[in-house]
Amino acid sequence: MSPRGRPALVAAVGVAILLLAAAVNLPERGAILRHLYVVPVAVAALRFGLPGGSLAALAVIVVDGPAVLAAVERAGLTDQAVERLVTFLALLAGGTVGGRLVDTIRAQQRRYATLLSVQRLLAGDAPLDEALPRLRAALATQLAGPADDVAVGLVVRDDDRLVVAGAGSPAPGSLAAEALASGCACFAADAGAGARPRRALAAPLVAPSGTLGVLVVERAGEMAASERAALATLGVYLGLALENARLARRQRRFADELEDKVRDATRRLVELDRAKSRFVAVTSHELRTPLTALLGFTELLRTRQFPSDEVRRLAGVMHRETERLVRIVDDLLDLSRVERGIAPVLRRAPVGVAAALDATVDLFAGPRPTHRFAIACADPALMVDADPDALERILRNLVSNAVKYSPAGSTITLRAERSSYAGHVQIAVEDEGGGIPADALPRIFEPYYRVPEAAPGVRGSGLGLAVVRTLVEAHGGAVDAVSVPQVGTRIAFLLPSVP
Ligand code: ADP
Repeated sequence: MSPRGRPALVAAVGVAILLLAAAVNLPERGAILRHLYVVPVAVAALRFGLPGGSLAALAVIVVDGPAVLAAVERAGLTDQAVERLVTFLALLAGGTVGGRLVDTIRAQQRRYATLLSVQRLLAGDAPLDEALPRLRAALATQLAGPADDVAVGLVVRDDDRLVVAGAGSPAPGSLAAEALASGCACFAADAGAGARPRRALAAPLVAPSGTLGVLVVERAGEMAASERAALATLGVYLGLALENARLARRQRRFADELEDKVRDATRRLVELDRAKSRFVAVTSHELRTPLTALLGFTELLRTRQFPSDEVRRLAGVMHRETERLVRIVDDLLDLSRVERGIAPVLRRAPVGVAAALDATVDLFAGPRPTHRFAIACADPALMVDADPDALERILRNLVSNAVKYSPAGSTITLRAERSSYAGHVQIAVEDEGGGIPADALPRIFEPYYRVPEAAPGVRGSGLGLAVVRTLVEAHGGAVDAVSVPQVGTRIAFLLPSVP
């Protein structure tokens, strides 16, 4: 016996014992024994619901009825006969009402179990394409009748697409499409072409944000109005559960993203902190080197006599070291202004690009050049609307990097052309050096950033490219780097052209 039938049996046996006890002790035993009929009726109603309760009551009437009718024929409607007829009516009413109550309670239990399994299935992290077939299978099990002839289909909107389970995408004009479009339950008295009519109901999955999808249930035989109403309610519940699951998923995703962002920001802050400490050490060194040279040479000039050629040579070295100091201090000043939110001051004028490229190459080529320099500027009349000093610093920083990070004897190309980006000129510095690793590439324009162990022994502060970006962007332009390790690097920037 199923656990569900056990309380019914216990109750029936209890009632039978009580009635037997009463029948043994009371003078009118027949009347009391007749009340024992309530036992099979109660058991049948509790076990089989409405059909069980009413059939058991009718069986009692069929079995005991002829005797009552015979007694009525013999002696007329005596009190005893009336009492027996009332007993029949009471049994019929009790069997039917009790059976119906049991049916209602079972339907509620089933509904509760369905809702619970829906909630469990949607609570997980599984994507809709995986969760929906499982949900459909659970619903098919829950909604299957004794004949097990129920077909269940689910269609759910997921952004711009429809996810379906147990059915194809709803065809235009179909019951599902109608319910999806109208947001109302749609019923078809016969959805099949067989001998037995197949009833079908499409219940929309309604949520506060709109109709999320549709639940289609199809079965042979009757589908009572109460059952249709229950399916429509299930549709509403499914809609709410889907919306809740969606919100919960979105919240989880948001929390994960937030966590990632905080972790990322913390990592960056730690790195920035380290980079700044490294920067202080590097910059002190960078400042100290030219200062030491200057100190040494001035000391020599102060204390010794040198031929005029040698004095000129020493003055040249001192000039270069002083220039290096000025460059570092300029970069520092620019960056500190940017960090305080102050854009660099630009004095813009039309500047000839070819002349600016020539001047930069002259600066680096010198009498004994370490690299080969090439200029590719097809249009000698190319002009940009820029601050000449800023353009000179941008080019100087890029060419200085190309010289530092590519082997002696290789070629450095300065290229300028009208950009496909209207109203702009593109200027690029290309080298044949070791390149920049792909993971470091997005960070090279950050202040203080230097590619770890990229070029041991090469001096630098990590400020050059940050300054380049600041100056280019102050002109309304943009800068970008492309690099292939062991092949070379190309850093290109856009500046507004002079029409
Ligand atoms: P640094 O003073 O270190 O040169 P930059 O801001 O100019 O600072 O450049 C940042 C980092 O980018 C450099 O440390 C170097 O690792 C890398 N880098 C820049 N230009 C090049 C290049 N042309 N080839 C290879 N690496 C480069």
